[in-house]
Amino acid sequence: QAKEEGRNKVQHFDDQMLAKARRRRRISDALRVALPQQQFSLVYQPIVDLQTRKVVKAEALIRWQCPKLPGVGPAEFIPVAEDLGLIQEIGEWVFQQVALMARDINMQLAEPIQISINKSARQLTAGDSSALWLERLASLNVPAHWIGVEITETLLLDGRPSVQNALWRLRQGGVQLSLDDFGTGYSAMSYLLRFELDYIKIDQSFIRDVVRPRGRAIVEAIVVMAHKLGLRVIAEGVEDQRVLSILQEMGCDYVQGYYFSPPLAQADFLSWVQRESVWVG
Ligand code: C2E
Ligand code: MG
Ligand code: MG
Ligand code: MG
Repeated sequence: QAKEEGRNKVQHFDDQMLAKARRRRRISDALRVALPQQQFSLVYQPIVDLQTRKVVKAEALIRWQCPKLPGVGPAEFIPVAEDLGLIQEIGEWVFQQVALMARDINMQLAEPIQISINKSARQLTAGDSSALWLERLASLNVPAHWIGVEITETLLLDGRPSVQNALWRLRQGGVQLSLDDFGTGYSAMSYLLRFELDYIKIDQSFIRDVVRPRGRAIVEAIVVMAHKLGLRVIAEGVEDQRVLSILQEMGCDYVQGYYFSPPLAQADFLSWVQRESVWVG
């Protein structure tokens, strides 16, 4: 009986592995044509300054309209793109789109908004595009401080000087840096010693928990630490008023989440900002 059960479990495990491998294979095949067939787009999620209640930033998030695999999200396909060596090209496309978007919307807004780009560690280790990015921003007449870069992943902790230099050059050029998903295994405290940064983005798993005493204590401690280090804090995944008011009480600087807005297409983002230029909660 026990043996039979064990065999079933192994069978089930094998099936799952096989299904996973198949899905990954299908994603890989489809990804190779995604860029040339223009299947990617970007959406933008507003980030609100808690002091002024204004939208001052936005995060650019990639979307993939894959005809064969509808609804596959970046958390699933970005790691595959990294393994295939496609992330460099995709990352350059994202950068180009964001630079143009920042230029377009900021021509129409009184107060400029900073748009941040997610950059995975593989993108950073594969080569230094910082000089190129700064040049392209200059040639597009986009001030570097209109652009931000969000980084994560313990891979960076290899302490490769090339990665450190690339980030340093970007920041010297005026691009602001955020440490994304802070508190998770992908974003460790040791970054704060090694890298010169501007923002810490506290992961949504912690933000959800601020309604409980222990969760609140942790986020409060992160805010105090960040401020002592001269960094500002962005809370990710704010979904309700209760969480928002606790974050406000503890002196969190910026908030982002479905409570304000989901990520939006560029045109919707612009009209949202123009409508809610001062957000009242
Ligand atoms: P991230 O950078 O931590 O992005 C935040 C994720 O949380 C986004 O998921 C966003 O849509 C989602 N989110 C925003 N507000 C809320 C909320 O109130 N509640 C909940 N539950 N979720 C919320 P998304 O767009 O699926 O992106 C997932 C991850 O994929 C990103 O995590 C980022 O690591 C990566 N990614 C997205 N776009 C790019 C890109 O252009 N390049 C690279 N290298 N990675 C990207
Ligand atoms: Mg991010
Ligand atoms: Mg994040
Ligand atoms: Mg994330």
